[in-house]
Amino acid sequence: MREQYLRSSPITATVDFGADGVQHGFLRLPYSRDDSAWGSVMIPITVVKNGEGPTALLTGGNHGDEYEGPIALFDLARTIEPADVRGRVVIVPAMNYPAFLGGTRTSPVDKGNLNRSFPGRPDGTVTEKIADYFQRVLLPLADIVLDFHSGGRTLDFLPFCAAHVLPDKQQEAKAFGFVEAFAAPYSMKMLEIDAVGMYDTAAEEMGKIFITTELGGGGSATRKSAEIAKRGVRNVLRHAGILKGEIDARSTEWLDMPDGDCFSFAEEPGLVEFLADLGEPVQRGSMIARIHPTGRTGAEPFEVQAKMDGVLIARHHPGLIKAGDCCAVLAVRV
Ligand code: CA
Repeated sequence: MREQYLRSSPITATVDFGADGVQHGFLRLPYSRDDSAWGSVMIPITVVKNGEGPTALLTGGNHGDEYEGPIALFDLARTIEPADVRGRVVIVPAMNYPAFLGGTRTSPVDKGNLNRSFPGRPDGTVTEKIADYFQRVLLPLADIVLDFHSGGRTLDFLPFCAAHVLPDKQQEAKAFGFVEAFAAPYSMKMLEIDAVGMYDTAAEEMGKIFITTELGGGGSATRKSAEIAKRGVRNVLRHAGILKGEIDARSTEWLDMPDGDCFSFAEEPGLVEFLADLGEPVQRGSMIARIHPTGRTGAEPFEVQAKMDGVLIARHHPGLIKAGDCCAVLAVRV
């Protein structure tokens, strides 16, 4: 155990996690700064509890420019009835609240990427303090964790719910059961580019059932993607036996990301032209996109080729791309 773990978190909750009923409050994180000497970051939180039962921890805004999660969770927090609950639901619609308010992936306060900051530090930056509070206070309360993501301003995704392939096959099977219950149009066995410091990994290493989503992107939400999120979160609570009512089951297509050949990165900057749209099939060796040089006319485009047969599940979002940007992600139909 690291020494700083002996320190308590500076965050205080204005809600009582043990009390029955609905409570809307805050995680208050002291943040002394120029415009507020003894000020705080006030992260909205809702706790709904009714007797004994499992606990679901529901989060959005881990990245501040992804909106389906916050839409679904602000909606759920406002409408969920304790009488329909058995157990407890902890809702944090915008985990990295400064990033959410800034409309940015990382925090404008400290540039912290919350999903690369776990386990965090109680004596660290604002973002590290948020991570530490989830690591040591909220995750230990949870049986099932749902963390909403979307592509944000620089990626766009086919809408899917996902879980990871895990060493503990029982834990993995339960997580995929929750993915199926979420009932997004697509369900994913997800591979991460770099899992170090992720909330996902922190929850999974604690033995929690962890599921996540990618529901769209481009820095906004659509009617369809918001509906998928709102339906999915209630389905997950019903599958857990926490929320009354029948699961609104929909057909879902399972996809797998078998290895690093899924990812294609831009090696030149320029103007990106996709030759496949999201959900369309591509063949190994075929061109997924052309990146046109923008400095002069007459120059040949850089070609982004598929390294495997698959379906396009994510693409770079704005029209211009930089060297090193993730250009395209493929998955295979299971
Ligand atoms: Ca994200």
